[in-house]
Parts: sequence; C-alpha cells; structure tokens
Amino acid sequence: MSDRRLFKSHQVTPELPRLQPGPQPLDRNVIASYMLEEQLGSGGMGQVWKAIDRGLARPVALKLLPHSMVADQDTRARFLREAKVASVLNHPNIVTIFETGEYEKQLFIAMELIEGVTVRDLINRHDVTRERALDIVKQALLGLSAAHQAGIIHRDIKPENLMVRKDGYVKILDFGLAKFQVSTEAQVTPQSGIVGTPRYMSPEQIKNDPVDGRCDLFSLGAVLYEMLAGEPPFGGENVGHILSAIISLNPPALKGVPPELAKIVMKALQKDRQKRYAQAGEFLTDIIAYTGGSLEIPGIATETSLVVLPLTCSPDDEIFADGIVDEIIANLSRNSRLRIIARSTSKLYRNHSMSIQEIGQALNVDMALEGSLRRSGERVRVVAQLVNTRDGFQMWNGRFEVKVKDIFDMEDEISDAIVGELHKHFKSMESLDERVALPIVDSAISELYFKGVSLQGTLRIDDIRKAIEYLQKVIELAPGFATAHAKLSTSLANLYRLLLPHAPAELLGEAEEEAKKALALDPANPDAYVSLSIVARIRGDFSAAHANLSEALRISPSHVTALSWLSYVHIFTGNCEEAEKLARKAIERDPAGSSHYTFLGYSLISQGRFMEASDALDRALRIDPRNHYSYAILLYAKLAMGQMEEARIMRDYLVHSDNLPLAVQAVLSLYRQITETPAEVPFSDELLLKIPYEPEAERIAADVFALRGEMKGALKFIESSVKKGLLNLPFLEHDPFLKPLRDDPAFITLKGLVADRIKRLSHKH
Ligand code: ATP
Ligand code: MG
Repeated sequence: MSDRRLFKSHQVTPELPRLQPGPQPLDRNVIASYMLEEQLGSGGMGQVWKAIDRGLARPVALKLLPHSMVADQDTRARFLREAKVASVLNHPNIVTIFETGEYEKQLFIAMELIEGVTVRDLINRHDVTRERALDIVKQALLGLSAAHQAGIIHRDIKPENLMVRKDGYVKILDFGLAKFQVSTEAQVTPQSGIVGTPRYMSPEQIKNDPVDGRCDLFSLGAVLYEMLAGEPPFGGENVGHILSAIISLNPPALKGVPPELAKIVMKALQKDRQKRYAQAGEFLTDIIAYTGGSLEIPGIATETSLVVLPLTCSPDDEIFADGIVDEIIANLSRNSRLRIIARSTSKLYRNHSMSIQEIGQALNVDMALEGSLRRSGERVRVVAQLVNTRDGFQMWNGRFEVKVKDIFDMEDEISDAIVGELHKHFKSMESLDERVALPIVDSAISELYFKGVSLQGTLRIDDIRKAIEYLQKVIELAPGFATAHAKLSTSLANLYRLLLPHAPAELLGEAEEEAKKALALDPANPDAYVSLSIVARIRGDFSAAHANLSEALRISPSHVTALSWLSYVHIFTGNCEEAEKLARKAIERDPAGSSHYTFLGYSLISQGRFMEASDALDRALRIDPRNHYSYAILLYAKLAMGQMEEARIMRDYLVHSDNLPLAVQAVLSLYRQITETPAEVPFSDELLLKIPYEPEAERIAADVFALRGEMKGALKFIESSVKKGLLNLPFLEHDPFLKPLRDDPAFITLKGLVADRIKRLSHKH
C-alpha cells in the first residue's frame, strides 16, 4: 500500500516546512510523496536530498539517480527489482531503505536520514583515532556479515559510503547500487568498462572476474588502511596508476601501527582473495581479538529457517488455502530448532514475481515451501515442494489428494514430511510433538473455521465480530475442536481490547472461559495460553501474563504473537533488555509485523537509546502508519533528543487524529510544555483521580510538571503512577525530563519501591 494513499484516506494535512531558498538544480521540488528540502550531497550516482515524506510526515534522505545511469526500460526494471532485494536488509549498521520508485521517469530511493558525517569527512578532518577507526570497521563488518549471509554484496565500500551517526552508529550506504553505476572520467576509463571507485576497488573487480563477499572485505581493508595511515593504500596520479597499483603493488608499510594490527590490515588487502579473510566474521574475530573485549556476532544462525509461501490457487479458494498454510506454520513453529517466518509476513509473497532465491535473501531464510492447491467439490489436491533458497535445489516434493474432511490430517502429513526431510540434513532437528487428534470435520465446518481464522487476524472490530460468529458456529458443530476454542478466546480478548474503554466486562470472562475449554481438550495449545495472557494483562496481572506467554513459547518457540506480547510485558515490568531481545526475535520471524518494532522502540526508549528507538519506530510506522502509539513514542524520542522540527511534524499529525489514548495526549502536552505553546493545563489533580489504569500517562504528566518547575506536582504524578502499578524502572531512570528530580529523596524512595516490586515479581517467575 502506498504511503500516499494512506495519507489521503486520513485526510490529515500536516503543515509542511517551507523550502529553503538556495540553488535548486531540479525543476520541481516534489518527487512522488516527497517534498525536497535541501541538498545533502552528490556523487557519482546523482544527488541526495533531505526531503519530507508527506504521507508519513517524516524527514527522509532521497537519492535521485541520474537518467544516464538507468537509461533503458530493462535496466530500470532490473534496478528497481534489485534495489527491492537490497532494501529488505534489516540491520542496524545498514541504512534502511524505505522505498524505491520511479516518478515521471525520475528514479529515486527514499531512505533513512542519517544525522552525522561520512568517514570521508572524518578522514579529511584528521579526526579518526585508531580506536575510532577500529570501531567503525567493527560495525561495518557486522553489517557486511549480515548482507553477505543474505547473499548481497556491496561492491562499492568506500569512505563516502560509510556514515557515522551522532550516537556512534555506523551505517553502510548504497548497498548493491554499484552494479548500476556508469563509469565516468573521474572513476574509470570508459574502455575498461568497469565501475566503482578505483581507489578502494578489489583486484578481482578490476580484472572483471566474478566477485563475492571478499571484494567488500578488501575495500573495507583499504578504508581501514587509510584511516590508520592518513593516506590510501594505493596512490597514483591518475586512474591508470591507481588500478595498476591495486593489481601489482604492495601498499607502503603502515608506520606507527602495532604489527599485529598491520597484519590484520594486510590480510584484508591480499590481492589473491584465497589469502584474504574468507568471511566478514573472520575479519571481525581478528579485530576483536586485537582490541580485546567480546562481541556476540549476531546473525550467524545456528537454527534452520523456513518460509511457507502462500499456495497458488483460484481466488475462490484463497481463504481455504491460507488456512492450510496457517496450520502448517503453527505446526512447524513448535520446533525449537526452526526459525519459521510468520504468516503475516509470508502472505506478502502471494502472486509474487520474485525468484525463490530472492525471497530467501529478502527474509534471510534457508528454505521455502511452495505449492499449489486445487479443489473440486469435496476433493482437495495439494502439490508442494521444499526448496533450498541458497541454490534453488529441490529438497523434497509431495502430492496429496484428500477429501476436505481429512484436510487437517493432510496438514500434519505435510508438516511431518518437512520435518522428516530436515532430519536428514540437520541431525539435531527434533520431531514434532504428538498433536492432539482433530475432530472429524466436514467441508462446511473447515470452511467456516478458515474464514473465522482469517478474519480474526485483521484486528478490525467488524472483522473480529464476524470471526467470533463463525468460530462459535464451528464449535457448535464440532465441540471437541480445541484450536477453534482457542481462536475464539483470542478473538473475544482482542475485541475487548479494541472496544476499550467502553468494552462490556463479560467479554473478558468469556475469553478466559474459552481458553480454558481449549486447554481441557489440548493442554499444549499455545494460542490458548496467549489468550490467557491477554486477559491477565488487561487485568493488570503481569505475573500471570508472563507465565502464560512463557508456556506458549515453551510449546511453540517461534510463536510471534507470544514473542511480541512477552516483549511488551517485559517493558512494563522493567526488564527492558529482555524486551529488546524478544522484540528482535519476533522481527526475525515476522519482519512485516509493525507491533514488534513498536515494542522494540519502547524498550529502547526506556533504556535511553533514543536514536535507535527512532529507527525502530520509523519502521513500525512504515508498516502501520495509523498507530497512534508508535507516533506518540516517536514524538517522545524526538522531544528527548531535542529534534524540535521533526517533533512538530509528528505533533501536527497527531493533533489531527481523534480518540487519542490518554498516554498519547500526555505526550502532546509534553510537546506543548517544551515549545511553550500556551494551552490549557492538561492534567489537573481532579483529572488525576479519574484516570483509570494508566500509569504511563501519569508518568508523562510528571514530565510536564517537572518541566514547569513544579516538582511537587511531578512527584504526585509519579507517586500515583507507582501506586497504580508502574514497574518500568529503567524509564524512570533514563527519563531526561525528570533529571531535576534525580537527587530528590522522595523520588529516590519511589524508585526504591518500584525496584522492590520488580524483585518480588522476578522471584515469582
Ligand atoms: P556514489 O554515487 O559513488 O555513491 P557518493 O557516495 O559520494 O558517491 P552519494 O551516494 O550520492 O555519493 O551521496 C552523497 C552524499 O550525500 C554522501 O556522501 C553523504 O554525505 C550524503 N548522504 C547520502 N545518503 C545519506 C543519508 N541517508 N542520510 C544523510 N546523508 C546522506
Ligand atoms: Mg554513496
């Protein structure tokens, strides 16, 4: 869905900042949904502008590619496709691509706006200590390692393409773009036909040999050399000299650099790539051994990963086919050695035009299950194959022909066949637990059931009401159907949640009842436990919520809803590091799910990591631009960082929305207080007494009072919030607006109370 459409459907028109006066080489200042603001730089591949994304009311960096680079339609199409593959790379050290597109023949890439400097700037300013150089290389290697594992090579690592953000994060720019670069005089002679920036180019690139990840390691080695020596390793007056130096000369010895470190650099710069580091991880290990300290290298997966793609079928059978895929995913999620992509993400690949290899790269998974479904009358035929996404090799295939009433047996058969197949390749793969036999159902029941399940997932009130109706009918017809009870329970709990604050109280009791029925029929039903956790959380019983979610994850370790909600529970119980880990785990399995990013953002804010939080929330809003919470948390982060211009854009969006939750209104008052916009006092003592279970809103109200210098008022809010169950101690500690209270004895006592409570709670777990 395009951001622009969503924007229209909301009819929100935040004010847009005026264009800066100054030279404007472009004859327009609007590209698709972006409004150009100021030029940030330019290079061999066009210009980079700071722009405002009007759909999401947020600033971005917009790269405009020169027409010459992608002149013909074929190249354009290939460019857009490849950029899309690279854009799915999701790593903190790789710049996030939001969108690539074409607007009136102008190709553009919208990406995360990085506030910081390029490594080129640092080198020119002689502003790189050895320690800093090593830190930059470490972070770049983490990003490269993730990309290489996904099969993506950068091809143009150079100081201009590495940025260091204000908070120290290194971001790699321009992934995979080098392939499309046209040679210019400043770069390579037209005759040679090679592209890239010669100073950092690997010998194999110059010789036009096929490249692999090791060419990036050479280039990064050259960048490291330059940061340490102040001069690039391969000098020369012109391009020809540089190229021949790379191919045939050894770089001058590194003066004043400890020999162990010089050895590392020279290993990266080996001309014969067999003698170089074989992988980014190896390079990194040597750097870490040199600098001391330890570092977990993430992304070097010990688990096997799989995506189950939507089955191709006639449009009439989509719900039915999706239901089957859902159940297969649920079955396979029980295997703790398998990272399985969640349904909400895999469904995006319906009718895709990507190759299996591209999908594998996009989702960073080893295998894909794909197939087709055909139904005629009471008979269903499914043909499926399991493919290795790294090489396209078929690992297994199967054909199933069953009566609709036996459809659940078939799902089990397919899941078992896959696990059996994985057994052959991965010895540690565990078999699936015995599953509870499903009641014999007929075609009408399975139809109702799949319809109910598909509606339940949308989280729209009307859909959920319908889902409840369908699932109730299913249970009437097949009372022993545990999963139907569990799904009904989740629907009831979600309906309650969505109807708040006007939800009928009995809904919650009914939800609990249904979950218990499901567990009586199948004590290992993970959905039932998730449902019980929602009920517990709504009642404010975080301890029970924690227990239920842990149980769901014991049964089904890849259950994304359970991972995500447990992350949320940890935020509210003050264990923000664990919350961060769980949210990241959910994201690995469900990169298209927005709430995981919202929780990740919240857990980071609570740890005072505002800049990283902004990244996560930005992602959340790209996926679900209507989420007021994501907006409000992002607004809070911007206020905490003092980024007032961006904060204003966010505020403009929020004030145009109705029915804002209390906590969101509280953040808006915080904005008003900081910008000194005259306004009514947002929280009075009387209001305070009326606030229901909303410790978060009160905590922010405390910020407002602290900013006004009314410390008594601030403390009163904190006290009330603690009374109502606030447990997020890290947030109290990292809250920049509460700094004036840091040494206040009453504040310290309140924090002590919260700490004690957390201790008691963790004993219970
Ligand atoms: P090449 O075209 O070979 O990549 P280059 O890296 O010098 O050469 P660009 O990629 O067009 O040129 O980038 C130009 C400059 O714009 C960068 O060096 C950097 O200063 C700035 N820039 C690029 N991307 C961003 C971004 N996402 N956020 C902030 N500044 C950026
Ligand atoms: Mg660049």
